[in-house]
Amino acid sequence: MEMAEIGATAAGGSNRQALSDDDVAGRELFAEWARGAGCTVMVDRIGNVFARRAGRDDAAAPVRSGSHLDTQPTGGRFDGVYGVLGALEVVETLHDHGIETDRPIEVVVWTNEEGSRFQYSMLGSAVWSGALLLESALQIADCDGITVAAELERHGLAGVVPALHTPTAAYVELHIEQGPILERDGAEIGVVTGAQGLRWFEITFTGRAAHAGPTPMDARADPVRALAATVNAVYDATRAAGDWARATFAQVHSVPASPNTVPERLTCTLDLRHPDAGTLDALEVALRDALTAATTLTGVTHELTRSSGTPPVAFDPALAQLVRDAADALGARHVDIVSGAGHDACHVAGVAPTAMIFVPCEGGVSHNEAESITPEQAERGASVLLGTLQRAASTHRSEVDR
Ligand SMILES: [Zn+2]
Repeated sequence: MEMAEIGATAAGGSNRQALSDDDVAGRELFAEWARGAGCTVMVDRIGNVFARRAGRDDAAAPVRSGSHLDTQPTGGRFDGVYGVLGALEVVETLHDHGIETDRPIEVVVWTNEEGSRFQYSMLGSAVWSGALLLESALQIADCDGITVAAELERHGLAGVVPALHTPTAAYVELHIEQGPILERDGAEIGVVTGAQGLRWFEITFTGRAAHAGPTPMDARADPVRALAATVNAVYDATRAAGDWARATFAQVHSVPASPNTVPERLTCTLDLRHPDAGTLDALEVALRDALTAATTLTGVTHELTRSSGTPPVAFDPALAQLVRDAADALGARHVDIVSGAGHDACHVAGVAPTAMIFVPCEGGVSHNEAESITPEQAERGASVLLGTLQRAASTHRSEVDR
């Protein structure tokens, strides 16, 4: 709640957009708290903050945990912030009780996760994990033309530590679910096994413009009929593909958009999501079959373009098991869940064993000033994180430490 006072909005949310004065004030408050818990604080060249608590074997690869402090312009008090302060709470708890861990533990604040001011989401973790070049990231500008490089410079945040991953024994990110599934299912903890892959398509149907009155229904080449048949077939295939499949048709445009003319052309976008690449392939085949069937039926032609996408992310099964063990030890009701949103953990998963822990949020509301969790939910998630990090930080030297 103290962090939420920085950049507080009228409707009870937070506005700390990446590298703004308020974002930096939040980072400074975090650093002050982290030093108070016995950590040393480092900043890398993209402004990612690492608060390190030494381990018994301080040369061993650290266990890392964190998230982001930046918010949407009308953001909530918990998205990202909860994961950073949850990890800090773990370190403070170990500090207060004089508990040592074999491996060092580092609490991480990733730069510009939200991508609202500088439009590249999960920027800091993308650079750190090698998915985006530092030089490219530094040149990204906000809508006033101010670059990431200029803001890092202005705030004295362009650190000297290379913004590139080093051996990491485990990365665990605690986050609010940002969806309604845990609350609906009465679960207290979500053990996140991975993140949805997504594919974007653009579909164009071309028919024949015709007068809405004199033209009989069977004498038309009506792109709307082709769209309707395609939408129904894709919805059916999505339902058949199980709980995690998602299909969203949006941005539907017709030309000419005149109420008394059968449109000549219709374009729409489709967003397909599933955590398994094979199922995404099957859904794409279903889409192509649906288009062929719908256009044959209606005498309309179609064009399909796959515009962009991201592959599914699978988190580390052994680390997910540590999360389950930690939840079981506390008697917390947990279920496996897939993340529908992108998180810094998705980038980190490319270079280190990674897991995420979700707690329910009220009504599944997020990216909204009304975002809320109870103190009990906050405590339970942080306790599961504590158990997970202690387990991960007590393993013996392995491959990763070479
Ligand atoms: Zn977030």
